[in-house]
Amino acid sequence: MKQLHGIAASRGIAIAKAYCLVESDLQVEKKTVADIPKEIERFQSALAASKEELEAIREKAEKEMGVEEAAIFNAQILVSSDPELIDSVENNIKENQLNAESSLEEIANQFITMLEQLDNEYMRERASDIRDVTKRILSHLLDVKVVNLSMINEEVIMIANDLTPSDTAQLNRQFVKAFVTNIGGRTSHSAIMARSMEIPAVVGAEGAVEQVRDGDLVIVDGVKGEVHINPSEDVVAAYKQQQKEMELEKKELEKLLNEKTVTADGEHIELAANIGTPADLAGVKANGAEGIGLYRTEFLYMDRDQLPTEEEQFTAYKKVLEEMNGLPVVVRTLDVGGDKELPYLQLPKEMNPFLGLRAVRLCLKEQEMFRTQLRALLRASKFGSLKIMFPMIATIDEFRHAKSILEEEKQKLVSNNIEVADNIEVGIMVEIPSTAVQADVFAKEVDFFSIGTNDLIQYTMAADRMNETVSYLYQPCNPAILRLVKMVIDAAHNEGKIAGMCGEMAGDETAIPLLLGLGLDEFSMSASSILKSRKLISQLKMSDMKELANEAVGMATAEEVVNAVMNRVQTVNI
Ligand code: PEP
Ligand code: MG
Repeated sequence: MKQLHGIAASRGIAIAKAYCLVESDLQVEKKTVADIPKEIERFQSALAASKEELEAIREKAEKEMGVEEAAIFNAQILVSSDPELIDSVENNIKENQLNAESSLEEIANQFITMLEQLDNEYMRERASDIRDVTKRILSHLLDVKVVNLSMINEEVIMIANDLTPSDTAQLNRQFVKAFVTNIGGRTSHSAIMARSMEIPAVVGAEGAVEQVRDGDLVIVDGVKGEVHINPSEDVVAAYKQQQKEMELEKKELEKLLNEKTVTADGEHIELAANIGTPADLAGVKANGAEGIGLYRTEFLYMDRDQLPTEEEQFTAYKKVLEEMNGLPVVVRTLDVGGDKELPYLQLPKEMNPFLGLRAVRLCLKEQEMFRTQLRALLRASKFGSLKIMFPMIATIDEFRHAKSILEEEKQKLVSNNIEVADNIEVGIMVEIPSTAVQADVFAKEVDFFSIGTNDLIQYTMAADRMNETVSYLYQPCNPAILRLVKMVIDAAHNEGKIAGMCGEMAGDETAIPLLLGLGLDEFSMSASSILKSRKLISQLKMSDMKELANEAVGMATAEEVVNAVMNRVQTVNI
């Protein structure tokens, strides 16, 4: 048995066979060939194998997901039979004595470019089908495996060097029981998503890809951050026992589902959930959230070839607002950049993407894209209690600019007799130190703050949140962070405004007592952390926590703070 250590990114225990995600290398080398008929035959047999594969996938998708979801494979089967495409590839082989791989790549790129230039969504989708089918045919020509994450159909533990947020979104929750990555930190987006999907995860587990083989039996311990490869029967039995105990603990917590969140001395605290897509709403309801404190809208923009239309966005926002039935929903405007890329925007590569053209900076530059999202939000506003939040605000000018664009779009809709709610609050994420330091200035103009500690900590400590080698600097309890948080909360309260937090710190059991003491009004976290946090808060007295927080901001190190919390809440069963 081998054991790896990493960062405990999402609680829970999983035991299953490993599925190693190897990035397929579809690099094509351009060569001239002498035997043309042989090359055409290679192309034909790769084409036939791809078609066969696609038909099998379609059949399986139809059975498991329904006819509508399987339709995408019909379109791909059509592409793989398209005589125009096939003839062009074969002619290219003949006329230029090209090898099949490069001939296919050249022709496919010509088709894709032509289709993408058309002002027609249907045609642009065909471009994406051609891209997928080309990949599949190339994989046969080059003899490498193509992975289709959404098509895994047995219980597995995913082992990968890294999972992008869009890879993670494609994981089928029914079959992927956990994941382990070589790189990443607790606040990388794949880790955050694992928590909302309620699947255990260990990230930053150095050596995972090198040491785990497809089919190995793996235990993922998302509580301690351990990975056991081919464990002994005793270890498996002990973990099965622990799984049972965790199930019981979950059942116990479910009793708090419909309760309010109240401290032991009677103060009400709002516990909200973070979501990435409307699909996360099931978890929000199952865990008794009192609202949505952060809807990360960027997932609507991922795994596709072009921007979502206003209509598509409107439908998604309306669904979330309606399903939340009047409870507050904080929708964050597009926050791409950093580890969340949108390849179709074709933005120049940046040396430091987390410090680059991200979030509201990009929206203020690409205003049409921003305005489309704002219109969709404004139109959806009458279906619930919407609050709009701008991410990555670094200066008051950025806030004023973004807000003025929102106002312009609102006025245009109103003058076209389109109904817009008149009580939409407009707030910002406080995740850049300059904004935390100037919170008193912002508090006069914004309706609310939500502190984004994932970024606030990375920017304050100058430690990349994706880099496991500096993950020790992710210190929510560092007095420097607590002081910034305090400044933001105090500034909000001085102006009679609300201060919330939607970074992962809000669901951190060691930080919660301190945040209560600092006066945080709203805690927004992965839905899976809500019931545990509700229980913890019900056992804490606000008066004690105020004292604790006051002491903590004056301490020297995160360790001292953590010890002080442990001493003060030692009687609490967390
Ligand atoms: C944050 O930075 O704390 C936050 C909530 O936003 P994201 O994790 O999406 O950057
Ligand atoms: Mg952020």
